[in-house]
Amino acid sequence: MSVREIVAIGDPVLREPAREVDPDELRTPGVQALIDDLIETRRAANGAGLAAVQIGEPLRIAVAENDGANPRYPYKPPIPLTVMVNPALEPADPETVLINEGCLSVPDLRGDLERHVAVRVRYLDREGNEHDEVVRGLTAGTFQHEVDHLNGVLFVDRANPRSLATWEQFERYQREAFVARAEALVARTGS
Ligand code: ZN
Repeated sequence: MSVREIVAIGDPVLREPAREVDPDELRTPGVQALIDDLIETRRAANGAGLAAVQIGEPLRIAVAENDGANPRYPYKPPIPLTVMVNPALEPADPETVLINEGCLSVPDLRGDLERHVAVRVRYLDREGNEHDEVVRGLTAGTFQHEVDHLNGVLFVDRANPRSLATWEQFERYQREAFVARAEALVARTGS
């Protein structure tokens, strides 16, 4: 396992749809090692999730994980380690919520965007087992952010441009109001 370099906005790999992983390919040592690297790189960078394209690998694989004490996103509830291969995501409910996001591939920028409050996500885990789950709240936002990466979409594409802020200015001017909204969402959805 190794911590890989995270590619930044401007790298074309972040702008192309990643390709599906064949179940036979999923079992290969190369793809399993890539999944280990994604997990380790996310942990080292304190993201809430990481997609394979963000370490330069155009495959439909992403991880989400949060231990509940993330220094980048202290208001985010815990997310157990989830490895998603070939995820398919659809809204489970028409309701949306304004969330503030950042991204390891977009250094020092945050912004507000609408996310679905509840999504149905179907994916394979690293052993090839099928999962079909409904995810809610801030965790649903994380899943939508990661699946966007696999389609070449970054949060800045969806963000209100007038909300964009550096992390320092977010802390100064936006954090208090957003954390109150985030905590209300977590209290309502449980995640
Ligand atoms: Zn991201």
